[in-house]
Amino acid sequence: APTLLWMRRDLRLSDHPALAAALDRGGPVIPVFIRDGLVDALGTAPAWRLGLGIGHLDGALRDKGSRLTLRSGNAAEVLLELVEETGARAVHWMRAYDPDSVDRDTRVKEALKARGIAAESFAGHLMFEPWTVETGQGGYYKVYTPFWRAVKERDVAAPLAAPSDLAAPDSWPGSETLGDWGLGRFMDRGAEVVRPYVRLGEDAAQGRLGAFMASKVAAYDTARDIPSEDGTSGLSENLSLGEITPRQCWHAGLRAREEGKTGAETFLQELVWREFAYHLMWHTPRLLTGNWREEWDGFPWNEDRRRAEVRAWERGRTGVAFVDAAMREMYVTGRMHNRGRMIVASYLTKHLMTHWRIGCDWFEDCLIDWDPASNALGWQWSAGSGPDATPYFRVFNPETQLDRFDKGRTYVRRWIAEGQKSPPKEALSYFDAIPRSWKMSAQDDYPAPVVGPKEGRKRALEAYENRDF
Ligand code: FAD
Repeated sequence: APTLLWMRRDLRLSDHPALAAALDRGGPVIPVFIRDGLVDALGTAPAWRLGLGIGHLDGALRDKGSRLTLRSGNAAEVLLELVEETGARAVHWMRAYDPDSVDRDTRVKEALKARGIAAESFAGHLMFEPWTVETGQGGYYKVYTPFWRAVKERDVAAPLAAPSDLAAPDSWPGSETLGDWGLGRFMDRGAEVVRPYVRLGEDAAQGRLGAFMASKVAAYDTARDIPSEDGTSGLSENLSLGEITPRQCWHAGLRAREEGKTGAETFLQELVWREFAYHLMWHTPRLLTGNWREEWDGFPWNEDRRRAEVRAWERGRTGVAFVDAAMREMYVTGRMHNRGRMIVASYLTKHLMTHWRIGCDWFEDCLIDWDPASNALGWQWSAGSGPDATPYFRVFNPETQLDRFDKGRTYVRRWIAEGQKSPPKEALSYFDAIPRSWKMSAQDDYPAPVVGPKEGRKRALEAYENRDF
C-alpha cells in the first residue's frame, strides 16, 4: 500500500527521515503539500518564498519519477480524503515545534489513528529536540551558554542520502495547482526585484554550504560582523524551509573544525542558537506572542503601528544611515545581515520606544528566511524582554556601530541612493521594489533623523530608570 508523505517545512529529498522510513515500508510514496490555515497565515514574503520552494521541490520529485500533490483545506480532513482515494495505510511527516503546528499535528495524529492509519512523525528540523535537553534540575535552559555546553559534544547522526528514484503509485491523486494557490499574491514589493536574491532548493543550498566551507568559514569569526561582506553562510533561508538540514550543516562544520578552520566553531555555535530558539519556543510558547519576562508588560512601549516614526522605520527613511540601509536590504533581498537586525531592532525598541512585537511582525512580512523561533528570540533579545537578552540599557549607537562595522561606508552606500551622484544598482533597485504609495524617490533629499541617536538614547534610558519593576 502507498504511504503519504505530508511535506511541510522540509522541502528536500536528502536527509529526510520521514521519506526514508516511507520507502522502507516498501510501497510507493505519495508526497503531499497541504495549504491549510497555517499556510494562509504566513507573512507576504515567507508565503511567496514557500511557493517558490514548493514549485522547485515538485520539479526535483519529477526528476525521480514522483510528483507533489497539492491540496487545500483542513489538514486532517485532507489527509483522510487522500487515504480514502489512494488506499494509503500510513502517513509520515517531519515534526514542527511551534505551538500552532503542534496543536494541528496532534489532532491529525488522533484523526488518522482513529481510522487505523499509521501516523508517524520524525525529527530533523532540529538536531536536539527541545525535550531532550535538560538542566541538572530537570528543567529547560534559559541561558544560551549552558545550553551550548549541554549539546556541543553530543553525537549527531550522519545525514541520510537522497533516494535514487521513487516508485510511482498506480495512479496519482488529483492535484490543485500552485498558480491557483497564488502564494505570492501579496508580494507587491516587486517580486522580480527580490527573485535574484533567492537561493532556491536543495542543490543550491548544498552548493552554498560547500562553497562556504571551502572559502569562507575560516574567516567567519571576523567577516560575520561586517554587513558589506558576504561572510556568513546565508543558509537561514534554506534552513527555514528545510531545503537543507541543520545536521548537514553541523557535519560540514565539524569537518571544517577538524581541518583547523578557525571560524568553524563559531558557525557550530550559531547553529545551536537556532536550536536554542526552538528550545525556548517549545518550552515557553509565549516567546512568540508576549514579553518573555512578563514584568516588561509594565514598560511604556508605544504600541501604535501607524505612527510616522514607525512608518519611517519600515521604509528605511529614519535618517539614520545604518538603520535605513539594513531596512532597505531586507526589502530588496528578503534578508538582512545579523548586525543590521540587531541595530534596527535596537533603534525601534529603544530610540523609538516601540513594542518589539511591531518590528517582529514587520520582519515576519518581509523576510524570506523568516523563522518563528529565531525571529521572536532575536526581537526579545534586542528589546531586553527576552531570555538571555541584552540589557535594555545597552542601547546600540547606530553611528559608532557604523565606525566599527562599516568603516568605508560600503554598506550604507550600497543601499541608500539619496545624495549619491551615481548610486549603485542595489540602492536604485530599492525604488523598483517599494510600492508607489510610499512616494519615495532616489532623487529625494535624505531626511534628518526622526529621532537622533543621542536624544533617543536619553529618552529610552529615562523610561528604563523610571520603570516600576
Ligand atoms: P550564519 O551566520 O551563517 O549562521 C548559520 C545559521 O545559524 C543561520 O542560518 C541560522 O540558522 C543560525 N543562526 C545564526 N544566528 C542566529 C541567531 N542569532 N539566532 C538563531 N539562529 C541563528 N534568523 C532566522 O533564521 N530567521 C529570522 O526570522 C530571524 N530573525 C531575526 C530577528 C532579529 C531581530 C535578530 C537580531 C536576529 C534574527 N535572526 C533570524 C537570526 C540571524 O540574524 C540570522 O539567522 C542570520 O542573520 C542568518 O544569516 P546566515 O544564514 O548567513 O547566518
